[in-house]
Amino acid sequence: MTSVPLFVAGEWHEISERDRGPVFNPSRGEVIAEVPMCTKDDVDLVVNAAAEAFPAWRDTPPVERARVFFRYRQLLEENFDRICQSVTREHGKTLVEARGSVYRGIENVEFACAIPTLLKGEALENLARGVDCETMLQPLGVCVGITPFNFPAMVPMWMFPLAIACGNTFVLKPSEKVPLSAVLIVELLEKAGLPKGVINVVHGGRECVDALLTHPKVRAISFVGSSPVAKHIYETGTQHGKRVQANGGAKNYVVVMPDADVAKTVEALSVAAFGCAGERCMAGSTAITVGKAAERVLPTLVEAARAIKVGPTDTKTQPDMGPVITAQHRDRVIGLVETSEKEGAKVIADGRGVKISDAPNGFFMGATVVDQVQDGMTIAREEVFGPVLNVMRIDDLDHAIEAANKSAYGNGAAIFTNSGKAAREFKNRVKAGMVGINIGVPATMAMFPFTGWDESFYGDLHIQGREGVQFYTQQKVVSTRWFGDGVGDVWKK
Ligand code: NAD
Repeated sequence: MTSVPLFVAGEWHEISERDRGPVFNPSRGEVIAEVPMCTKDDVDLVVNAAAEAFPAWRDTPPVERARVFFRYRQLLEENFDRICQSVTREHGKTLVEARGSVYRGIENVEFACAIPTLLKGEALENLARGVDCETMLQPLGVCVGITPFNFPAMVPMWMFPLAIACGNTFVLKPSEKVPLSAVLIVELLEKAGLPKGVINVVHGGRECVDALLTHPKVRAISFVGSSPVAKHIYETGTQHGKRVQANGGAKNYVVVMPDADVAKTVEALSVAAFGCAGERCMAGSTAITVGKAAERVLPTLVEAARAIKVGPTDTKTQPDMGPVITAQHRDRVIGLVETSEKEGAKVIADGRGVKISDAPNGFFMGATVVDQVQDGMTIAREEVFGPVLNVMRIDDLDHAIEAANKSAYGNGAAIFTNSGKAAREFKNRVKAGMVGINIGVPATMAMFPFTGWDESFYGDLHIQGREGVQFYTQQKVVSTRWFGDGVGDVWKK
């Protein structure tokens, strides 16, 4: 059985004397590797390696740092299929979905290649007579990334390319459910010529994460995962003096107006709800149909959901949708649908009983639509993170916005309409950090921040874009005066 290695100071290590967790191929329900549950001692090793590598990397000119990422981008392209296959194998999403997500990751590498421009400061000549002023963006030191299972390559790439390009050194703690793709993309970064110790990888769960959060040499923590853990990361990290950005879970609303284009809306809505088996923080998990939109859209939507072919994704012929991550997770999702029925909702497309004859042990669930969901039902409040679309029927746009804004989360929201006025009203009033107008998954790309609000984000500076650069740097303002005859001698004025 493959044991997933650690990466410390440029060397890959297998460690035998730690507890191990299983890494599954969710399409088959088979264990494909074992991941060590690292302890405080292992965390000391990786953080010390990163701290030792920091002074030389900080002093490496930004253009030279950028060159590593230009080479890295090339290697990612050359190994694209291998990375996508790894993502599909350990996560279960289809190859098409894996390709899309790995490309989103590569765009973060492209953004990092612009670091010499992104790090430029500002200057003002003659702030006072003979005094000039300039700003500089300097790296922090050792930064840490802790990532979730649902995007095994993309989410790590939201973090380490920009952090490292800014001049920091990095420790990555990938999800213990999907550590293999993270290892692969770090191997490629090493091949691109990154000096030893600039990136390090450690594995594990809470014990490992808590050691990272409290380590005196760690300066900043980027986290993506569920909201309760995001809150814990934010509170513990900040109590220990770290800078923290922590993305949490979500419940995203898609408002469908009566004038929306039926075919295009159904297509976008079913991708938003069932793409990646619903396991994404920007999934459109609740449709709010306004007025007559329900009768226009629901029959086609139910037909589309029933037509989604579910199956193993580690095959040549690809299904439309793969499995969810574990058997426990599938059972939890099924449990939430059962509870919704008990609470009065109606299941109008039912993926619970799906059986796949050539992959009987895979963690499958079919696309499911739950109609007549009301505020206050468990399924209306909790993040489901599976292939389930809730439908709430509401009379007008005002009440639709009110219903969406009751969510404790605030990641994404979308509206489907042909009315500019309705779209304008929605984008101004809806309580979410990323908004789509006739776009079902308004997830931002590398050059824009990933702007979750409320319980979808804990911190001040978001991941990606210029906010990402600000997060991974500290600003210094330098005021300069030179003595001598002439204008510089302010005391003579
Ligand atoms: P998770 O919170 O269970 O795990 C995320 C990371 O935290 C993992 O590396 C895990 O090892 C670690 N972890 C888990 N429990 C911990 C604990 N008690 N203490 C310290 N560390 C702990 O999340 P997941 O199930 O891997 O991922 C799914 C969640 O991530 C969903 O809620 C989804 O919405 C969210 N997500 C959010 C975004 C976003 O940008 N907002 C993006 C992707 C996923």
